Amino acid sequence: LMVYTGAPQNTRRKAIEELRVEEGWELMKANGMDEIVIHAPYIINLANTVKPETYELAVEFLEKEIDRTAAMGSKVLILHPGAHVGAGEEAGIKRIIEGLNTVLTADTPVNIALETMAGKGSEVGGRFEQLRAIIDRVQLQAHVGVCLDTCHVWDAGYDIAGDLDGVLAEFDRVIGLGRLHAVHLNNSLNPCGNHKDRHAKLRDGCIPPEALVRVTQHPALAGLPFILETPNDDAGYAQEIAWLRTVRD
Ligand code: FE
Ligand code: FE
Ligand code: ZN
Repeated sequence: LMVYTGAPQNTRRKAIEELRVEEGWELMKANGMDEIVIHAPYIINLANTVKPETYELAVEFLEKEIDRTAAMGSKVLILHPGAHVGAGEEAGIKRIIEGLNTVLTADTPVNIALETMAGKGSEVGGRFEQLRAIIDRVQLQAHVGVCLDTCHVWDAGYDIAGDLDGVLAEFDRVIGLGRLHAVHLNNSLNPCGNHKDRHAKLRDGCIPPEALVRVTQHPALAGLPFILETPNDDAGYAQEIAWLRTVRD
């Protein structure tokens, strides 16, 4: 299960005591789920060097989000690395590192999983090398992992349909498969390399559906939580999960 601790578009959050954590876990268990990951809101931008208050808000919010993640019984907080908003990739990466080094302490009880991004606009994280550059300069590297989003890597130019083995080998060489904490399983509305980040339903996008099935079956990804971020209502998600189960058997 993946949840946001509130609306993904804003930073208004309820107190931890009001999050109904125990009730949530009971529901999860009743539905055969035993792992939860948290996604930080989209507007958190650690890479912003242009507006200091955006960066400061990001650091402040992340510190609290780490507490909420732990309180919810999760070990993984997924974070979009950020967008440099024109200051350049190097400046953005430097700021992200500074932010992570501020929020992570030796006893931080969770890992931050940087998400692979589509490389839309000034987004950082569209290339595996950028994530590596961040991890390299974080002091507490054991606390930093990665979440692989199939729509995003496809949009970034990694051909997971034509050469999944090659893409995962490159991920392993640059970042290390051991850093992977989760997979976001999405199709894309756009062709490979288009840098658009528009998610599509599993069977209704530019990635051949059988390629997404191969992602779920790849031995390098076995045991990881797979999360759908496809444009669906509850019934639509249920259908996609049922479809995945039939084609995998
Ligand atoms: Fe995300
Ligand atoms: Fe995602
Ligand atoms: Zn996306």
